[in-house]
Amino acid sequence: MRLSKETISNQVINEAPRVNMSRRQIICGLAAGSVVPIVTSCTTNPETGTSQFLLVGDAQIAQMAVSAWDEMKQETPISTNSALTRRVNRVWEKVAQGAGKSDESWEIAVFDTDDANAFVMPGNKVGVYRGITELTENDDQLASVLGHEAGHVAGRHAAERYSVALAGQVAMVAGAIAVQQSDTLREYGDTIGVLGGAALQFGVLLPYSRRHELEADRLGVDYMYRAGYSAAEAPRLWDLMAARSEGSRPPEFMSTHPDPVRRATELRQYINARGYDLV
Ligand SMILES: [Zn+2]
Repeated sequence: MRLSKETISNQVINEAPRVNMSRRQIICGLAAGSVVPIVTSCTTNPETGTSQFLLVGDAQIAQMAVSAWDEMKQETPISTNSALTRRVNRVWEKVAQGAGKSDESWEIAVFDTDDANAFVMPGNKVGVYRGITELTENDDQLASVLGHEAGHVAGRHAAERYSVALAGQVAMVAGAIAVQQSDTLREYGDTIGVLGGAALQFGVLLPYSRRHELEADRLGVDYMYRAGYSAAEAPRLWDLMAARSEGSRPPEFMSTHPDPVRRATELRQYINARGYDLV
């Protein structure tokens, strides 16, 4: 099921309160689930310790991603290189173990295109393009890409991103919403209104926020380290990305994952601080 902008808008309008409510009442209503029944309110993610504003659960967001994932697999050639597929699956299994997610069922697709990219979709779908496997110099670097994607899952970034977009619609209808209520809403702040429509239409495919990316970087390094890979290879991969981004055909990963130099620097600081390696 893919929710259109109209579906969401209608839902929100139908469920919006008919009386004038103060800002505080709206916030409390949202938290208690009385304004929009699907609200699960602000929760703290045990994996990251951050406060999250979630309007949808993992199961709901997974349902929304089903058609996008199916389309992706229909439109993009799947690799028939069994050695490559085995390699990606082997690395993923170790990383998933490092992330404490090896008991969940995952669907991994290796796409046979030059794109230097990878992504994760709600519902435990992981897409890896041949191009990024060729960019990586070793399994450790591939593990850093997959660890990063696992980080997006653990951080529940898709549900949070979607919730922010949906909150934008609620805000438009209900009048005012407390942008200060969670880390996410505060961060998106003024852009919520701008994101609104487009975000809902492309709900599951929006780029993540900068905070999500950095969080996924750090979680990814935690996971690859626990899986036995060399954490030092993660910033090295960003160096490679940075070098490639100066060429005529920058890696596609860069379009949704900007600032490779800065991220490599931040990752090195994190790795040193955690004592994983000296980089
Ligand atoms: Zn990412």
